[in-house]
Amino acid sequence: MKKNILGKTGIEVTELCFGALPMGPLQKNMDLESCTEVVAYALKKGINFVDTAQMYRTYDPIQEAVKLTGINPVISTKSTASSYEEMEKAIDEALKSLDRNYIDIFFMHAARVDVDVFEVRKGALKCLLDYKARGYIKAVGISTHNVKVVELALSRDDMDVIFPLINFKGIGILGGSIDEMKGAIEKAAKAGKGILIMKALGGGLLLNEYKAAMDFVKNLEGYHSIAVGMVSKEEVDFNVNYFNGIYEEEKIRGIGMDKKRFIVVESLCKGCKSCQDACPNLAMEYDEEKKKARINQERCLTCGYCTASCPEFAIRAV
Ligand code: SF4
Ligand code: SF4
Repeated sequence: MKKNILGKTGIEVTELCFGALPMGPLQKNMDLESCTEVVAYALKKGINFVDTAQMYRTYDPIQEAVKLTGINPVISTKSTASSYEEMEKAIDEALKSLDRNYIDIFFMHAARVDVDVFEVRKGALKCLLDYKARGYIKAVGISTHNVKVVELALSRDDMDVIFPLINFKGIGILGGSIDEMKGAIEKAAKAGKGILIMKALGGGLLLNEYKAAMDFVKNLEGYHSIAVGMVSKEEVDFNVNYFNGIYEEEKIRGIGMDKKRFIVVESLCKGCKSCQDACPNLAMEYDEEKKKARINQERCLTCGYCTASCPEFAIRAV
């Protein structure tokens, strides 16, 4: 598989990055052994880049897979910490849980945080930069859904890697249009930033249009790697083959990649009810006791309309 250098970091990564969110407790909640098996398989198939986060709670299977295979991939992680102390804890947790002396890339996990992110998270950023200076982190960056945050990050010397959201339907992009995000990514790459793309498949919503969605991000000017969440060996094979130039449309159904279901991630839902109006099928219900939305699976037609209405990105395809 083709490899690229992430901007000026000197870190060489495969074009396909293993996204460790969907297998974990926030989405599919697979057991440790099954998660480990999938990560190990991905490493053996040549993927040398794994992306996780403090919030995903998938450090253990990654560490187990490294031990099992003897293959040491590039690992990126992220934390929503705002203060120095919180970030210090997050770094310590990552180093210990992943059993490493350093983390390759540590992002500020700032998906929907606005343009004041560098101000409101300045303690956390200082901590990342201190740990980088001490050799515990190789590169520092930010993960964001916001075009304007990408534009800010690209002109900052302390940002080595940017992890923006983009997909051909524009699902989840904040602060601008698809074209504006494309332009910001291109400018960031020209400024020497490493670019890792997220949500190329719209969090699973674009699986039925896999080729169009992936072709779109693969044709972006300036990207270095694309994070794709995977939960089975069959999905690893399918994605690896695509990145190696083999597209097997007939296999999408066979491996269940088209069988999606939508859920509300309770820990993310703020109970704002915006999603109820967006559902054309009266499938979005509200639990008054828990003050959370929930999807009536018998009514849900998996159209995905509700996902774009959720300001918290709490509705996911699994
Ligand atoms: S996926 Fe479509 S049908 Fe299902 S809850 Fe969301 S909007 Fe309603
Ligand atoms: S829009 Fe999102 S945060 Fe608001 S109630 Fe629905 S799922 Fe929860």
